[in-house]
Amino acid sequence: MTNEQARLRWESALVNNYGTPPIEVVRGEGTRVWDADGNAYLDLLAGIAVNALGHAHPAVVDAVSRQIATLGHTSNLVANPVALELSETLLEVAGLAGDGKVLLVNSGSEANEVALKISRLTGRGSVVACESGFHGRTMGALTLTGQPAKQEPFAPLVPGIGHVPFGDIDALRAAVDSDTAAVFVEPIQGEAGVIPAPDGYLRAAREITEQHGALLVLDEVQTGIGRTGSWFAFQQAGIVPDVVTLAKGLGGGLPLGAVIGVGGAADLLQPGQHGVTFGGNPVCCAAGLAVLRTIESESLAEHARTVGKDIAASVEALRHPSIAGVRGAGLLLGVALREQPSAAVAGAARRAGYLVNPVTPDTLRLAPPLVLAAEDAHRFVSDLPQILDDASKDV
Ligand SMILES: *Cc1c(COP(=O)(O)O)cnc(C)c1O
Repeated sequence: MTNEQARLRWESALVNNYGTPPIEVVRGEGTRVWDADGNAYLDLLAGIAVNALGHAHPAVVDAVSRQIATLGHTSNLVANPVALELSETLLEVAGLAGDGKVLLVNSGSEANEVALKISRLTGRGSVVACESGFHGRTMGALTLTGQPAKQEPFAPLVPGIGHVPFGDIDALRAAVDSDTAAVFVEPIQGEAGVIPAPDGYLRAAREITEQHGALLVLDEVQTGIGRTGSWFAFQQAGIVPDVVTLAKGLGGGLPLGAVIGVGGAADLLQPGQHGVTFGGNPVCCAAGLAVLRTIESESLAEHARTVGKDIAASVEALRHPSIAGVRGAGLLLGVALREQPSAAVAGAARRAGYLVNPVTPDTLRLAPPLVLAAEDAHRFVSDLPQILDDASKDV
């Protein structure tokens, strides 16, 4: 098999939902992957902020192998020890033990669907989310997603959901009242191009929602699990939300999402009001536990903070005319580009042996495994000027 053969087979067998991918990745180890033609890449995207421990991490491989050989699936008609352990560990690292409860699901979209259902159970009519925000593609999550181009083909959407400009405290204050069930916010808008909430915004969102008795739902599907330099971004903002949604990094590459309800928000869902056949699947939970334990034992959130700061500072120190700046926190970074379209830069990076993501036309997203070595980060930064030059020749 070659990349070219893979493209042809993809085009004949797979729905053209993603466009034809340029390469087929066949193997991964740590922060490196190899394609069908045998080319090696430094993976600076980690399956979109998913592979927190990189590829084929021994802790995940071992946990998953043991679990599938012990108990692969149960349903939620019975308890399983791995789901219990994962939920308790999640609450512990979130600082919510005793005050929070977990519902395990399969994806980020589904976690947000559950959060939306929880918000309906307040008995209030309206939900506020942010323009340009991203909460997933299923119908409820898509309605929360503040990106009209993604929504329009699928109208009519779920009623009762409105959007305010992200980061605008006055607009949020004006939109929230006694009929507001919940406010949905990402601490850093990932899919919008790695746009951090301005200083004080999350704290203001907490105050405003508290004042009106509305729930504050933080979508940490992308920012959670160590990615931004702490277990969760809300911890850096110094607030406690009512609901946190998680997925991406949680399962270390296996499909796993979670909803954490805090205080009264944890008790709104009643038996039978949601159901997930695969929710709490022991194999996925075993992977999740391995991820949480390894992040803890190897201080990977701190590592992400240090290496992320280092990348941001050294990219800015290049003073390259094509680079406008670097946004983000920890190992969720957006390199803002001035000239070359990000797709051309991502193509040139790929030819140079790096997988990066052209998340918006003028932003390159980096969301590497949290285990990224400082030397590998430096190598990318020192190759970046050459990559930008190559990208210009492409245009
Ligand atoms: C990726 C993402 C989602 C959707 O997660 P899926 O697992 O793709 O359904 C939701 N919210 C945010 C912030 C995300 O980054």
